Amino acid sequence: MNKKITFLFFLLMLLLAASFLPSSIWAENEGFVSVSRLDYEIFHAPENLRPGQALVVAFRYRGTKPVADQQPLMLNFIDRKFFLEPVAGGWRGVAAVPLGTVAGSYQLLIKFDDGAELALPITVLAHDYGEQRLTVPDEMATPVRPENLQKIKQDRKSLRLAYASSGSDLLLERVVRPPLSTTITSPFGRRRLLNGKPKSPHGGVDYKAAVGVPIVAAAKGRVVLAEELYYSGNLVLLDHGLGIFTLYMHLDEISCRCGDVVDFGQIIGTAGSSGRVTGPHLHWGVKIAGVFVDPLRFVTDSKHLLRVPWEGEDGKSKF
Ligand SMILES: [Zn+2]
Repeated sequence: MNKKITFLFFLLMLLLAASFLPSSIWAENEGFVSVSRLDYEIFHAPENLRPGQALVVAFRYRGTKPVADQQPLMLNFIDRKFFLEPVAGGWRGVAAVPLGTVAGSYQLLIKFDDGAELALPITVLAHDYGEQRLTVPDEMATPVRPENLQKIKQDRKSLRLAYASSGSDLLLERVVRPPLSTTITSPFGRRRLLNGKPKSPHGGVDYKAAVGVPIVAAAKGRVVLAEELYYSGNLVLLDHGLGIFTLYMHLDEISCRCGDVVDFGQIIGTAGSSGRVTGPHLHWGVKIAGVFVDPLRFVTDSKHLLRVPWEGEDGKSKF
């Protein structure tokens, strides 16, 4: 009995001590790895990543000569282009690893307008997200009716235009928060077989949600699509800048309009069962420059976007 009380007392003291630690201990270059290439210092987080994960990159010129006219244009990773934005003292961007990428080392390239580039190897680890078999009406699994095929074609065009409209400036002001905290009925990344036929892997997470439950924005963003699509049902697509989008699918009602800027936590609609579903739920997705990433992992990784790694040095605090 005494031992138990001593242990609990010790645990309480430990928790108290932890709460008094200065936050700067945790904030110092949290999670960033730094590498020097030519006259630049490059930071990235995390160190290695899995398919379906984002990579936050920041870099600055550390040479002795004036930086001249050389301007970084974009990031290139696994044959895809990602945005960059200027921040105080440097630049930053966010890249992502597509699902299905084979484990190995890949070059992250920072491309400049004069043709120069910085290269740095990034390790992509293997990860098996598992498999899921679903049964839906045939016309939903593999549509054949001309009007449905026409609608799907039209939807693809709307999505392409919406995704192409991302602003380069990051709107994120705090860590991304999932729109619901209910049970996850289907996790991210599962390979899916619909009525026995292989389809694309699950590009988001499914939350248990009754029809009518309010759905909120996971972060501050601009509404770039708010309409009914064949597969997604009533969909809201938010642009958070730097190529980062969040998607909310199968809604019952949509309560925002294209062009609106919505705040973190603002209601954008209600949960429902529209589109290709087996029952009411919320499908929440995060897409970065065309690459679906695990939304829950991005909740953690989004903290790397709230500050640049050199922030706090030489009196500069906020960019
Ligand atoms: Zn889903």
